Amino acid sequence: MGAMDNKSIKWGFHGNNGELKMASAMTIRGVQSTVMANLNEADNRPMIPLAQGDPSSFTCFRTTPVAEDAIVDAVRSANFNCYAPAVGILPARRSIAESLSRDLPYNLSPDDVYLTVGAEQAIEIILTVLARPGANILLPRPGYPFYEARAAVSHLEVRHFDLLPEKGWEVDLDGVENLADDKTVAMVIINPGNPCGNVFTYEHLKKVAETARRLGILVIADEVYDHLVFGSNPFVPMGVFGSIIPVLTLGSLSKSWIVPGWRLGWIATSDPNGILHTTGITEYLKSYIYLTSDPATIIQGAVPRIIERTPEDFFSKIIGMIKEAADTCYDRLKEIPCITCPHKPEGSMFVMVKLNLQLLEGINDDMEFCIKLAKEESVIVLPGIAMGMKNWLRITFAVATSSLEDGLGRIKAFYLRHAKKK
Ligand SMILES: *Cc1c(COP(=O)(O)O)cnc(C)c1O
Repeated sequence: MGAMDNKSIKWGFHGNNGELKMASAMTIRGVQSTVMANLNEADNRPMIPLAQGDPSSFTCFRTTPVAEDAIVDAVRSANFNCYAPAVGILPARRSIAESLSRDLPYNLSPDDVYLTVGAEQAIEIILTVLARPGANILLPRPGYPFYEARAAVSHLEVRHFDLLPEKGWEVDLDGVENLADDKTVAMVIINPGNPCGNVFTYEHLKKVAETARRLGILVIADEVYDHLVFGSNPFVPMGVFGSIIPVLTLGSLSKSWIVPGWRLGWIATSDPNGILHTTGITEYLKSYIYLTSDPATIIQGAVPRIIERTPEDFFSKIIGMIKEAADTCYDRLKEIPCITCPHKPEGSMFVMVKLNLQLLEGINDDMEFCIKLAKEESVIVLPGIAMGMKNWLRITFAVATSSLEDGLGRIKAFYLRHAKKK
């Protein structure tokens, strides 16, 4: 028998492969790798990663020992070497339900919570469950491109509503009304905002809920940054409005505990009137969850201790550091004429800024800006096109202060070198 060659496989995958390739290139990791491919190896300075929101590699952002000990003890107990139930183990779902209920006017039950492999799998599950021939979903622009990529793979049509920079990135609710039709299944709200760093007010979220109710569509509330707020607006979970419209809330340990590699997230159904149940969505969700893989049981076993025993001062210290970084970022960006920041960040780990290409020589769009910046200054930022906003940039400030200052200094030097001569 000869070696396996192309001809020994019956089916070609080229058609489908193209679609998957396009979807993966759309994700943040996909765009980031395109930009990073341009790094100059001869640059001896450290690379400054201002693209991806993952501060875990900086020692100042290490997670709490409570979480580390919970994992170690979960391993040592030998209680979690087993398969878990498809929806996740009860104590973990119970502690998540209790912790979310603290901010809600009603109590969630453990049966309202489904554990997932990070919030990304929660997105994958929800979009797969909601997809049907001809259906569409309303996504924010700018937004989190994993939604677009997953929708493409599920053949769910995407329609974008705008977030309005001049209104502190509030949702263009008239736009939402105009986009929706009888095939619209849901709209997505990311709060605190990625990529805009905004935090919606109670009043605005209520209007979102009322709009969704009028249109008869679910709200998917991506709250992976839930308590990471540091401006004047407090965090209000969308589930507060669950009696107006059913809400599917997504959360995870990734951002709040700074452990994105632990891959523990959840879906919580905030639906005190039981509409998801009567419309059959709950049943469909449960059936689909049997077809998916689960977070490692070890991590599930550690969840109750992580959630119940993490001291408040862990979060307040992290929020303090991120707030300071956001302030530094906002102030330093003001010194770079080709960049304007329409709204000071007040939550999450990001800011969305506008590029003024008229002030630059030989740089024609945001992608070219990011590629040249990587090449010349070893600084990675994300082109706005990845989030549907051409000639904008997304910058994360959740890095060590010295790296942030270094990175912003290099962006300024880059501007000065490429500034259009008068
Ligand atoms: C990081 C992020 C996710 C994915 O979170 P994981 O729990 O790491 O999978 C989902 N949505 C938004 C808006 C994010 O920023």
